[in-house]
Amino acid sequence: MQPFPHIFSPLDLGFTQLKNRVVMGSMHTGLEEAENGFEKMASYFRERAKGGVGLIITGGISPNFSGRVAPYSSQLSFPWQVGKHKIITNAVHETDDAKICLQILHSGRYGYHPLCCAPSRIKSPISPFTPRALSTWGVKKTIRDFVNCATLAKKAGYDGIEVMGSEGYLINEFVAPRTNKRVDQYGGDLTNRIRFPLDIINTIRAKLGKEFIIIFRLSLLDLVEQGSNWQEVVTFAKALEAAGVDIINTGIGWHEARIPTIATMVPRAAFSWITEKLKQEIATPLITTNRINTPEVIETILSNRQADMVCMARPFLADPYFLAKAAANQAAAINTCIGCNQACLDHVFKQKIASCLVNPKACHETEFTAAINTSSINQKSFAVVGAGPAGLSFAIEAAQLGNKVTVFERSHEIGGQFNIAKEIPGKEEFKETLRYFNHHIKELNITLKLNTEVTPDNLVNGFDAVIISTGIRPRIPTIPGVKLPHVLTYQDLIWKKHSVGQTVALIGAGGIGYDCAEFLAHNPNTIPTSLDKEAFFEQWGIDTTYKNRGAIKPKTSKLSTRKIYLLQRSTTKMGKDLGKTTGWIHRKSLNNKGIEMLTGVDYKAITETGLVISINGEEKTLEVDNVILCSGQISNNELYYALKKQKLNVYLIGGALLAAEIDAKRAIDEGVRLAHTLTQSPLTKCVAV
Ligand code: FAD
Ligand code: NAP
Ligand code: SF4
Repeated sequence: MQPFPHIFSPLDLGFTQLKNRVVMGSMHTGLEEAENGFEKMASYFRERAKGGVGLIITGGISPNFSGRVAPYSSQLSFPWQVGKHKIITNAVHETDDAKICLQILHSGRYGYHPLCCAPSRIKSPISPFTPRALSTWGVKKTIRDFVNCATLAKKAGYDGIEVMGSEGYLINEFVAPRTNKRVDQYGGDLTNRIRFPLDIINTIRAKLGKEFIIIFRLSLLDLVEQGSNWQEVVTFAKALEAAGVDIINTGIGWHEARIPTIATMVPRAAFSWITEKLKQEIATPLITTNRINTPEVIETILSNRQADMVCMARPFLADPYFLAKAAANQAAAINTCIGCNQACLDHVFKQKIASCLVNPKACHETEFTAAINTSSINQKSFAVVGAGPAGLSFAIEAAQLGNKVTVFERSHEIGGQFNIAKEIPGKEEFKETLRYFNHHIKELNITLKLNTEVTPDNLVNGFDAVIISTGIRPRIPTIPGVKLPHVLTYQDLIWKKHSVGQTVALIGAGGIGYDCAEFLAHNPNTIPTSLDKEAFFEQWGIDTTYKNRGAIKPKTSKLSTRKIYLLQRSTTKMGKDLGKTTGWIHRKSLNNKGIEMLTGVDYKAITETGLVISINGEEKTLEVDNVILCSGQISNNELYYALKKQKLNVYLIGGALLAAEIDAKRAIDEGVRLAHTLTQSPLTKCVAV
């Protein structure tokens, strides 16, 4: 399958152009604070430079103590810290023409500690800490700290810096009237409010010379009340240009904005129009960002002259060789970032090392040590039963490591439950992972046997090991009436496409319950908002005319025409276990569609006409046409135990190993890791399917 056959045809960017025009954006990974983190970061960045990235921007590093994002976050303020950064810059510069800039980030009132500070003493709605207002002396000291940090960055070998001026961090807080109520020369009218960043830029430029790259991340859309207006953004951009900034990068949305800006349900390149708007006003090269994840999107932006450059962060976690593959017209080989945030941002927000759902090696490069096997003597032969994410990630990794792999799948297609996930409006990106799997099955000569159910009795060939990745079965709760014909599992609903009526009750409100509610609430005759930019702007209240400060306007709710009940037994907040950075979007989306959510539900019975429940001892019947079971899953692993009895080398991964809380992140991680382990371990031949 070649999803983008016209790739690069109009512009024909070529590798050099791509290197110059696609930037790896800043992303905190947690390695900054980890043990041996700088060595690990060096491996992580080296790999991306080797993969063709011409300009890398590091994760945000604070210029002083109060600017740290959290108490133990990274800071660059002292000469003794320079040596560690050299490990990174040396690694990147091993690739001749690769450059790296340090991002200087002062977190302002988002600092998750009591010593955080801001222009004014106003607490952010997403932080428990009220910031201290900087005195005028404190502002000047902070400017010196930025300059000191930039000076140390230059000493450490960085080619330049990016000054973080967006996302609602300190600089943005100075610029916007929302958070700046000062009465000294750093508050009041716009000239005063932008004085702080301009003083920083002017002093750095004067001190560090013309060759040192200065990028400024400018908030083009604050997406909060009392954010900047368009004229202020333009005036500020022109002042930055005059101050000698080399490149302006686009910032979209404060962290406290209740509008999704990078999650998977955001349409691709949804915000490039604002970079294009600024391009009419200034000559400084502009970078556009947010939800740009394929060469096709990059090509469209650049060929339409919407921006001079494109910035991507997560797509380089997903595939360090994105640019090399794109330049070789191998777009189908790219492991595409699906915008899930599950292993990157969700990890960082939980103080875990970032990684990537589709590429568990990201930020963990040093843990995957198996060498590629080039000799047929050492080549191993693996049978994989089940072509879901777990089995396929094992198969591809094992084949890339030089082994021979045969995959057996009982269905007519690969992908397992990803085939259900990709049908959910807002999860269309999941198709890209299936495209990636399909491409590599062919490229790596993996033998794929579809429509082949493996049983303990159909053993025919010799394999070194059999990997059981047979996934899960939906849990069927023991509720009277559960076998009635209008009771369906989520697999019946989405995979088998059973039709359902106008009133539906969903039993279970985990990730799958939420997804099924979204699926049922969507009108199949309309385009999902994730694919329709205008609908997305309306749904989330983004004012593309920029008449209002912050570019926000009232949201438009589109109620579901179907009556949907989403139910759970526990009394905890509904949807509390959804992703840390995306759960609020799912909750808001269903609330806006008028889904009725009931907690503390005791299921009494399912009847011909409805679902009998009791809440706080009060019994009632929900008159529904269908009941959909989203009540968790159980492992499908009987085959494993049967083969084990026959003393075969069998290994369990994914949902088949443990159904509780199985998601694709764990399934893929287990597959890739097992491929490395088995490639390195001695195995004796066994008989299998
Ligand atoms: P599966 O995907 O279940 O694959 C198992 C495969 O084995 C199947 O193809 C099956 O046909 C095959 N098989 C079984 N028995 C045999 C046999 N005897 N012989 C041959 N083949 C056999 N996860 C996330 O991380 N993020 C999400 O946003 C997300 N959204 C989801 C949305 C929905 C609606 C659903 C249903 C799931 C979602 N998931 C999500 C969960 C994710 O898809 C699963 O955790 C993941 O697919 C599990 O992978 P697996 O390989 O272990 O099993
Ligand atoms: P889940 O999150 O464990 O939710 C299962 C739901 O079923 C819960 O609401 C549970 O709530 C209910 N339940 C459990 N046993 C029950 C029983 N015997 N009778 C009635 N209700 C019962 O699992 P899931 O929704 O099936 O999702 C599976 C995995 O896929 C999850 O772990 C998730 O990580 C992944 N996934 C992720 C996303 C995402 O967006 N990141 C989306 C979809 C799926 P009560 O016990 O309170 O009733
Ligand atoms: Fe992209 Fe998800 Fe990987 Fe993050 S975890 S980089 S969002 S695919």
